[in-house]
Amino acid sequence: MSSRRQFLAAAGAVVMVGRATAVETRYPFTLGVASGSPRESSVVLWTRLAPDPLNGGGMGQTVAEVRYRLCADQAMRKVVREGVVTTSGDKAHSVHVIAQGLEPGREYWYDFRYGEASSPVGRTRTADRSATRTTVALASCNSFESGYFAAYADMARWAPDCVIHVGDYIYEGAAATLGLSTRVVGGTELSFETVRQHDGPETVTLWDYRNRYALYRSDLGLQAAHAASPWIVALDDHEIDNNWAGDAPQDPWAQTKTEFKVRKLAALRAYYEHMPIERPPILDGLDAHLQLYDAYRLGPVQIHLLDTRQYRSDQVCGQGFPGDESCAELTDPRLTMLGSTQERWLTKSLRESSAVYNVLASQTWFAPFRYNAPPAAPKVNMDQWDGYPLERQRIIDLLASGVRNPVVLSGDWHAAAAMRVYQDPWNIRSRRVGYNFCGTSISSHCPWAGAMRAALPDNPHVDHLNGERRGYLRCEIDSAGWRSDFMVVDNPSKADSMVRSERQLRLQDV
Ligand code: FE
Ligand code: CA
Repeated sequence: MSSRRQFLAAAGAVVMVGRATAVETRYPFTLGVASGSPRESSVVLWTRLAPDPLNGGGMGQTVAEVRYRLCADQAMRKVVREGVVTTSGDKAHSVHVIAQGLEPGREYWYDFRYGEASSPVGRTRTADRSATRTTVALASCNSFESGYFAAYADMARWAPDCVIHVGDYIYEGAAATLGLSTRVVGGTELSFETVRQHDGPETVTLWDYRNRYALYRSDLGLQAAHAASPWIVALDDHEIDNNWAGDAPQDPWAQTKTEFKVRKLAALRAYYEHMPIERPPILDGLDAHLQLYDAYRLGPVQIHLLDTRQYRSDQVCGQGFPGDESCAELTDPRLTMLGSTQERWLTKSLRESSAVYNVLASQTWFAPFRYNAPPAAPKVNMDQWDGYPLERQRIIDLLASGVRNPVVLSGDWHAAAAMRVYQDPWNIRSRRVGYNFCGTSISSHCPWAGAMRAALPDNPHVDHLNGERRGYLRCEIDSAGWRSDFMVVDNPSKADSMVRSERQLRLQDV
């Protein structure tokens, strides 16, 4: 925006704020508050004015001035930073404040005011590279329809230093029918419950995506988890469309490339508008792109957040589910999950890291998983790293060349797993390089849980596997080592369900 336009927008705000407070009396902070991208001296604070959240937000074309405060105490008496930011319909009245000049490893509390209305108070925490301990939650795949977000309510009570969300924050699908429905999976009839419904048809336009994010964020468990910890986020496929890759939709017969580009732009804008991230999407004509991959340092852990969706080449061999037959194209050297720029960044980031533990936060599973018995060529899921084996091998070789304690954290597959990663990923007699911990879904169903269980004997590198349960992964890292708790939700059909640790694994036990 030019400075002249910025000035006009600011001038307009004076007039419009007065009019808006006169007309708009409904509470604007219906979507809560959030913080994210924790650095040693900064953190992003987020909110969005949405008095009518499921219907475009309800702020119309108002240019609004929102006040924010960041305080050193929960009672909000010791103000560290405060200011006023202007927002408008261009960004769905979302607010992103990068609070800077903060102290490392400190808790802060923040809130927002608009007119007479105050937001809830959020708690956040800056990063600290010299800290000897940290706590991290791994989350993914929160289908609004498939369950309540009891896992998030539990995460909020735990209030880790950081939450890593590796994607499927929303699902794009049309509203399903409420109640139990049956699906035949691998010859067995399984039933799944839809506990609440999406707001209308499949999301395509900016209006649709905004309303869909608002629907998800109306969940109080999710709001609580955002208000309790800073988040580090990357999107996967369902934030836009199932199994898309780069600029290729999974169903080219149903949408042209141009239609998909316009849709992707809308989805990326809405994602930015609802996430506590530093940067909005970058536009190059119709090509939209959101810079998400980045490194974060939390005490003994360096988190290398990957983006395995925006730069990947299209999946090969087939979309058979849960796995498909290997084919010759798997060895095409052009196949990529990260793209060359991101791979160069990752190589540098890993080589330069001085952390005790090096996390690769990857949307999809990194360790292999086959759905058939050897000696046949492995039947694998082509949307995961198994579909990009040469690039995976380059990363494994890199991890093996002196990177300290590599741990890959993944989501996407709606199943919890702990897997050893070997230099030859299919050979457990080769050198062990690292681990891949996979969080199960917060709420999304896993119809392929049985197929995975049946395939367990053919995957001897897997030490823990559970696709039957919803939940998240807790990681506690300190001088005693790394512990991961596989948290499970007793009943995803209940918002206040019990959540407990099903199993704790220490890195040295895996
Ligand atoms: Fe998912
Ligand atoms: Ca996914």
